[in-house]
Amino acid sequence: MRIYGLLGESLKHSISPMIHSLILKGINEEGTYELYEVEKQEVKNSINKFKELGAVGVNVTIPYKTEVMKYLDKISEEAKKIGAVNTICFKNKITIGYNTDYTGFGMLLKNNDIDIYNKKALVLGSGGAAKSVIAYLNDNGIGELTIVSRGANKIEDIHYKKQYDIIPYAEISKLENKDIIINCTPCGMYPSVDICPIEKGSIAKFSTVVDLIYNPKETLLLKYAKELDKKAVNGLYMLIGQAVAAQELWHDRKISSSIINSIYERVKVEKYD
Ligand code: NAP
Repeated sequence: MRIYGLLGESLKHSISPMIHSLILKGINEEGTYELYEVEKQEVKNSINKFKELGAVGVNVTIPYKTEVMKYLDKISEEAKKIGAVNTICFKNKITIGYNTDYTGFGMLLKNNDIDIYNKKALVLGSGGAAKSVIAYLNDNGIGELTIVSRGANKIEDIHYKKQYDIIPYAEISKLENKDIIINCTPCGMYPSVDICPIEKGSIAKFSTVVDLIYNPKETLLLKYAKELDKKAVNGLYMLIGQAVAAQELWHDRKISSSIINSIYERVKVEKYD
């Protein structure tokens, strides 16, 4: 049996096994995708064990996306830039780390016809997901980027080609109109569903709102955006996209958009209906 899985600390509510088994079925590949909950001190051993077992590929989630990097043989360019790995390929006993949150975010934009070229964006948060989003925006022609952080004065590790503004939340109300806001904080995620990371009035300055959160289907931020007649997109397509991109790396093949979209529709029904 070909081995795939997810390495993390607390994985009880993960829907990755469901998503990956749908992908494996969609591309006619055999295998089992299991959850591997481990303590920090077990991460290195886990990687060695996967190698010994001949695992094909493993995803990595909170809080080990950075920790795992020091135990891998090679790191892809985008993962180096972001400083986090969420996908490991085991090829001829060599371990290679990638970041498919980056790719998944790009797939979400494409699927929703969100054009970022020369546009003005506001990214909320400065954690792992924010870094993938910022790297993608930077690599794909964003015009202007502002990062909002509770510790705006303390951030030092977001270094990309251009220098971006990093502001505290209190300054959002002073901003001029922009194109897109991307929530990369957990504010509004289940069970804290009555929290919105910014005031409703500030949302009026944007034409598109993307929330990386996928549980609930519609966060308070997205609800406000819809009430203001803005384009509002949740993070489910990115979740599917990062899983598909991992499978593409593991199998060294492209997966067609018709397979991706049918998996997305299926997961939507399973998760939200
Ligand atoms: P993380 O590394 O913990 O970063 C979250 C960031 O949000 C923090 O660095 C912090 O930035 C900010 N933050 C945290 N608590 C906050 C609060 N109470 N109020 C305001 N800001 C707060 O987490 P992550 O991995 O980046 O994930 C962030 C969110 O994205 C989660 O909801 C996760 O489920 C979602 N996500 C979705 C996908 C997908 O595929 N759709 C992929 C990855 C993550 P500052 O300290 O700078 O304020």
